[in-house]
Amino acid sequence: MSFIVAIDGPAGSGKGTITEIISKKLGLINIGSGSAYRCVALETIRRGIKVEEKEKIIDMLNELNIEFKLKNGKDVIYLNGEDVTTRIREKDVVRIVSQISAIKQVRFKLNDIFRACANSKEIIMEGRDIGTYVFPNADVKIYLDATPEERAKRRYKQNQELGIEMSYEEILENIKIRDKNDMEKEIGALKQAEDATYIDSSNMTIEEVSKKIEDLIKEKRNF
Ligand code: C5P
Repeated sequence: MSFIVAIDGPAGSGKGTITEIISKKLGLINIGSGSAYRCVALETIRRGIKVEEKEKIIDMLNELNIEFKLKNGKDVIYLNGEDVTTRIREKDVVRIVSQISAIKQVRFKLNDIFRACANSKEIIMEGRDIGTYVFPNADVKIYLDATPEERAKRRYKQNQELGIEMSYEEILENIKIRDKNDMEKEIGALKQAEDATYIDSSNMTIEEVSKKIEDLIKEKRNF
C-alpha cells in the first residue's frame, strides 16, 4: 500500500526545505519533482539545444536517467550517474526551467517516473501539480505559499549558502516570471487542489511549518 504526501506551491515557498525535514523525521521517501524538471533543463543546456527546439528536447528524454537517492543523510539527485544537486540550482537552469516544464511531453515523461517511484511506497513529493494532477488521490495535500518578496529573500539566502551568485532583485524578478509561467501552463498548472490545506508561511518559522504539516500527516496515518 502506498502512502502519498503532496506538497505544492510556488518557488521559494519552503517546499524543498520542509519536505527534506519531514521525510527524515517520518521515514518517507523524498521526491523533489522540481529537481527532475531542472535536470531536463540542464541536459538541454549541455547539449546546446535551444528552448524553442521542442522536438530535440522531446527526443532527448529517453536518454535521461534521473534518480533520487540519499547520500550521507542528504537528498541528492543524479542525472545519468552524476550528482547534479547543486548544479541544477545555477542561474542558467533557473532561467529556462519553467519553459522546459511547459512542454507536455516532458511532463508526461516525468510524471511516469514520479508514479513509478511511488509504487507501493511511502513518499513525500513536492512540486506544482502533485496534488492536482500527478497524485489526485494523495493521502495528504498541502498548498504552501508566501509573498514573492519573502520567497525571494529565502532563495537569496539559500543561494548564498550554496555559493550561487544571483542578486535579490534578479531572484525576485525570476520568481515572478516563474509564478506566471507556472500558473498559466496548459497541463499541470500551479494551483491549489480543492482538498488541499492552505498554509501561508510568510510569517512562520521552518519549525512551525514542519510541525503543522507533520501533525496533518499523523492525523492520516499512525506512525
Ligand atoms: O520547485 P523548483 O523551483 O525546483 O521547480 C523548478 C521548476 O520546475 C518550476 O519553476 C516549475 O516550472 C517546474 N515544475 C513543474 N511542476 C512541478 C515541479 C516543478 O512544472 N511539479
